[in-house]
Amino acid sequence: MSEEKEYVIAIDIGGTNLKADLVDREGNISDFSYTPSHASEGREALLQALKKIISVQMSGGKKIVGIAAGSPGTVNNSTGVIDYMQAHIPNWTGMKLGEFLSEQAGGIPSQIDNDANVIALGEYWKGAGQGAKCLLALALGTGLGSGLVVEGKVFHGPFFNAVEVGHTIVSPDGTNVACSCGNFGCAESFISPGKMISRAHLSMQVGVPSVLGGYPKLTIAQIQERYKNNDVPDFNVKDMVDHYEDDFLCKRLIDDCMKYLALLIYNLSKCYDPDVISLGGGMFKSADFFLPKLQAQLDRYYVSPDLPVKYKIKVSELGDAAGIYGAAKMIWDYLDSKRS
Ligand SMILES: [Zn+2]
Repeated sequence: MSEEKEYVIAIDIGGTNLKADLVDREGNISDFSYTPSHASEGREALLQALKKIISVQMSGGKKIVGIAAGSPGTVNNSTGVIDYMQAHIPNWTGMKLGEFLSEQAGGIPSQIDNDANVIALGEYWKGAGQGAKCLLALALGTGLGSGLVVEGKVFHGPFFNAVEVGHTIVSPDGTNVACSCGNFGCAESFISPGKMISRAHLSMQVGVPSVLGGYPKLTIAQIQERYKNNDVPDFNVKDMVDHYEDDFLCKRLIDDCMKYLALLIYNLSKCYDPDVISLGGGMFKSADFFLPKLQAQLDRYYVSPDLPVKYKIKVSELGDAAGIYGAAKMIWDYLDSKRS
């Protein structure tokens, strides 16, 4: 008689949505459940959303042996506690998330980690980082997330703050680009699509002309939500790409993004000696546009013929699913370590 097939619940906690899925030992996923995360409303609203999505996953009658989630913030993978989260999720700091997940799923083992670490683990397991000895995964979105997987394990650092490359400072002087972390000149401020859009708005507010100013205006509700500002045109990085050749501001912001991304990649390659660097985020759907520009910026740095570049830059293969794969891998690895 064959044993009943086992699954884990994998959850990706995002600022806007929760995603969850049942994943088997081989890494087969099905259709995600999505529900609004209500994260900006704070801890209680987010916990209610988590309860809802977990109960959906539990309702199918499958044999579920573990549960895991990736969350924004400084996530203590050892204690299962959110050690620190900025104001984006009110009261999330101090949340015993691991314990909560176990309780909601009937007492099964749980694991949690930082969302970018989980994405990196997902890319290592089933995506662009398969087979890598040292994978550096960068995720360009609202911010710049990053994770490092060495010999199959996420590198956390003793305080679970390692590899926060988005908040490394790449422009200490001559910039007024403020970062959500409180500093100025962080890599994220130049590289993430979210911050590129903010920089475009700020530039236009002080009079830099751009075709972006002619884009349809956001609604009042959208304006209040985004910038609490009047008359904000709605555009994204794809629009900047469309106007790269004919608009000074679009070209400048994209060139800055590639310049600082290349600087970051160069420096990180010296720190970690990765064999694969994966780039995730919707903007790399236009990889044919961005990758040659990135390479041109990387080519500005001298490389000794005796010490050639060996790492490969790859575009993420898992897209939105990376966090689900990574959460599943995290809990399967944990279960394996307990069984052996
Ligand atoms: Zn920062």
